[in-house]
Amino acid sequence: MKCISLKLKLSLWFTLILTIVCAVILILVMRIYQSTEKKLLLQTLDNATDSMVYKMRGDWKYRKDMETGKLDDHNFLVDDVQLMVYNKKGDHIAGVFLYPELDEITVHETDKPVRTELDGRDYYYWDKKTRTVRGNDMYVRGIIAAEDDLFGSLTSHITILIALPVLLAMAFGGGYFITGRFLKPVRDIRKTAEEIRSGGDLSKRIGTSGNGDELDELANTINTMFDKLDKDFDAQKQFTSNASHELRTPVSVILAQCEYGFDHSDSAEELLQVVSSVQEQGYKMSGLIKLLLMFTRIDQGTEHYPKEETDLTELVHSVCEDMRIIADKNIAVTEKLDPVTAYVNREMLTLLTVNLIQNSLRYGKENGTVKVGLSESGNMAVLTVEDNGIGISAEDLPHIWERFYRSDRSRSSKGLGLGLALVKQIAGFHGGKVEVESTEGIGSRFIVKIIKQ
Ligand code: ADP
Repeated sequence: MKCISLKLKLSLWFTLILTIVCAVILILVMRIYQSTEKKLLLQTLDNATDSMVYKMRGDWKYRKDMETGKLDDHNFLVDDVQLMVYNKKGDHIAGVFLYPELDEITVHETDKPVRTELDGRDYYYWDKKTRTVRGNDMYVRGIIAAEDDLFGSLTSHITILIALPVLLAMAFGGGYFITGRFLKPVRDIRKTAEEIRSGGDLSKRIGTSGNGDELDELANTINTMFDKLDKDFDAQKQFTSNASHELRTPVSVILAQCEYGFDHSDSAEELLQVVSSVQEQGYKMSGLIKLLLMFTRIDQGTEHYPKEETDLTELVHSVCEDMRIIADKNIAVTEKLDPVTAYVNREMLTLLTVNLIQNSLRYGKENGTVKVGLSESGNMAVLTVEDNGIGISAEDLPHIWERFYRSDRSRSSKGLGLGLALVKQIAGFHGGKVEVESTEGIGSRFIVKIIKQ
């Protein structure tokens, strides 16, 4: 079945509702009109009958002329009311003689009109008594056609019958046009999304009208989503390219070493050197692959990293002890640790602390110090690692948390540029955040805050 467009659907619904509203209003108006008409009609009947009654009562000659048939017919037709005169016995003696069935109905005084049907049409008749000068009772019967059939009244107003469909057609046309205009941003959104899907160009954006209505808000929200997707996609591409680049170097070294080994297969010493070099590159690759896997798993969720209540003081102290063993350049690692426990993943928190202290040692100066602190602040555990090393330049500072970012000055070091990105990722995984204060040539202070529970 062919799908009806939203534009057409809305217009049809709108027209249907309008039709119902118009019909209800029309019926109400007609009912009011009808009841007023009926009142007027009965008033006319009352007046016309009364006027005949008074004339007969007061005007002797008039009554005489009537009885002798000298009165013209127009005397018995007053304002659409037809009048009949009956004597005391109920004989029809003057007036209109068009309704023999009506003469069958016994004439007697009524205080309100009576509705009756004659020849398939509805009428009201009203009988009134009058007394002549001689004291004879006579009756006047007035009759008028009842025009209160609603459908009849409606169809009699030809203008309504023509105007109504024209108005509804105009409403449908107008509704269709306005709906089309209102839905234009939705069409634009669909078109842009389609262009992005087919062309893969995430830099495209939906045009906004700037009037701040709901559709404008929707377009803005979708544009913001595209911004984020675009950025994430770029970051992902960059990450993959950097990761491939970092893996290519050890692979090239391994292949070159293998060729060298084949060429010098007769020398056990040379072969040993080759094996040692291959092993070194293997460790490098294994470390990198482990890190890449960790990023992916953290991105995916908690499945591989269960949390447990952990004594952070003991954890940080243990890392400091290990770091002292590898510390070179005569750098002293000092601790100021408050007792803090937190619900964390032990392996991750160890990695985070190792990375920060390792950086401080790596970028520390000869005879320098690395101060490690642990404290609590509200619901947060706060870890600080401070050194008096080379510091970070203002232009490097905003980028140090990016994956694979290394400042020019640190390119000669063994780092991969993934350490701080991992620190940030781990802090985020624990509902926390990272901060850094650093001055080039003076030193750096890293602060990690994580939620304890
Ligand atoms: P890397 O493996 O290169 O150390 P990181 O992600 O750990 O990668 O750090 C990113 C960059 O931040 C480093 O290349 C270095 O320039 C800078 N950096 C990190 N820690 C320190 C520090 N304690 N002192 C000075 N610079 C630092």
